[in-house]
This record gives sequence, C-alpha cells and structure tokens, in this order.
Amino acid sequence: NTELTQEWLQNYVDDWVKFYRKHTTDGKLASYIPQLEKADPNALGIVIIGNNGMTIQSGDIDTTFSIQSVSKVFAFIVACMQRGMSYVLNRVDVEPTGEAFNSIMHLEMKKIEKPFNPLVNAGAITVTSLLEGKTSDEKLEGIFQLFEKILGHRPELDIEVYESERETSIRNRAIGYFLLETGVLESDLEITLETYFKQCSIEVSAEDLARLGLILANDGIDRMTGEEVIPTQIARLAKVLMLTCGMYDASGKFAAYVGIPAKSGVSGGIMATVPPRARDELLPFMDGCGIGVYGPALDKQGNSTAGIRLLRHIASHWDLSIF
Ligand code: GLN
Repeated sequence: NTELTQEWLQNYVDDWVKFYRKHTTDGKLASYIPQLEKADPNALGIVIIGNNGMTIQSGDIDTTFSIQSVSKVFAFIVACMQRGMSYVLNRVDVEPTGEAFNSIMHLEMKKIEKPFNPLVNAGAITVTSLLEGKTSDEKLEGIFQLFEKILGHRPELDIEVYESERETSIRNRAIGYFLLETGVLESDLEITLETYFKQCSIEVSAEDLARLGLILANDGIDRMTGEEVIPTQIARLAKVLMLTCGMYDASGKFAAYVGIPAKSGVSGGIMATVPPRARDELLPFMDGCGIGVYGPALDKQGNSTAGIRLLRHIASHWDLSIF
C-alpha cells in the first residue's frame, strides 16, 4: 500500500536526518567568502524524488544556497551539447586527480596538455571557456535554459555570492593564467572567469538538486514527457565523471561506501543520482531517483559531513548502490 510505504519512508528519513544532524558539528562552513559563513552550520535537509512518483523531503529543505561546484556537471553537459562530446574531450580529460578541487599542483607537475577532468576547477574553467556566446551572460544562457527545462523555473543568480567569488578569486585566477599559458582556453580569460563565478552563484534548493539528479538517473530523459532533455551519451558520461571525480578527493571512498554518482559543492549541496535497476523485489526508489542534500558544514575534502553520512546510510539500507 503506497500510502503506508510513503509514511513509513517519511518517518524513516525524518529519524535519520535528526540523527545525522548531530554530525554537522564535525564539519566547518566554507569560509573563503563571507556569504557561505552566514549559513546555519547545523542545517541538514534532503529531498528524494523517485520515478515511482514518490517524493520524500525532510529537514532544512526551504533554504536556498549557491550551487557552486555542482554547476560544473551542467557546464560540461551544455558544452558537450553545444560543441559535441569529442570536441570537449579533446580539451579536457576524464581522469580523477586525487588532489583537492582547486589544486594547481597537478597542472604543472604532470606536464599535462589538458586538465584532468571537468569537475576540478582547472577542467571546469576550461569547459566554461568552450560555452557558446561572447559575454558571460550569453555563455550562461545555455545552462539557464537547461535548468529551466528540468526545474520548471529559471533559477536566480545570487549577486552577492557572485561578487565575492570574483573578489576572492586569487586561486582561480592563478589556475586561469596557467591554462592561458597552456593554450586550452577558447575564450577571453576575464570573460571565462566571470562566467565561472556566475555559474557557481546560481541559487538552488535541495529539491532543485533532486530534480537535476533525477533527469541524469534517467539518462537525460524526462520520464513524464518522454523528451530527451540531455542526449543520453552525454548524461551517461556526466554520471561517470560524478562517480569518479564528483566528490573531490573523496570520490573513491564515496563510490565504495555509497556507490551512487554524486556531485558536491562548497555551499554544502550534494546532487545524487540513482539510476533505475531491475531487481527481483523492487524496494522503494530502486526504480531510480534523484536526491538533493543540503548540509553546509563540510569535512576536510569540502563535502557535507552530515550529508555524506546520511546518503551512505540511506543508500546502504535501501540498497541503492549501482554496483
Ligand atoms: N566557487 C568555488 C571555487 O571555484 C566552487 C568550488 C566548489 O564548490 N568546490 O573555488
């Protein structure tokens, strides 16, 4: 009986959100810009949207936050849609780095010709330079249009976050100048960085992240309308990148202990995607779901400390691992 199941799942998730909220104290808010330090360090919220038509939401789900690094997945998708996958892959690789997301070391140490992957800053900035358009707003338009299609509304830019990103951008500028020297950037550096800071500042909710995760779970197809919103091959590659590189230098552990493609951001968001799997006995959400988590207290790698634990718990108890 679906109503009973829904109620049971709701209580279950409520209990575990309450439990894992205690773990928020193990983490720290990102502090490189003042806006992120204004977040409630004890916040934790989760939204799960399933192909079975069920939605479960619990905890701090009304808070909006800047999308930060989760945007890198969509900049990559849009660049592939605009320029073709092979064009993009000629300019950025698909290898995990094992380094921090904003590492500059691997760029020089390994004498690479192209950045390691689209989900570390060097790769993301390169991808952003490939987006169509002359100005940063033109370049962002593709991302906004894709979000509008998936979310049903056009998200806003958090101008304060954007301006602080721009003002405190020493490391990203350093990466940008390095990339300029290697010749992989296809647009003016200033415009590329402006676009990158803006894409990080797009305001979302946990529900938005769940919806974005759901479309990827379904290989880019909107199950309600049957429309292919993202070409399947591109959606699949995005999930590979999320699995291998999406949780920064903790991606291996996340794949081992949680086992679902996910992408995190420094504001505490995680977008996770659970592709449908045929099983003898279909537990709820095994038929695919998108999960959005918000928990701004971060661990050393920059992932939501309570968010990761909550996801690990739910994924193992509901057998959501893709493996
Ligand atoms: N704006 C941040 C940066 O580029 C985003 C990084 C992140 O979420 N990891 O440093």
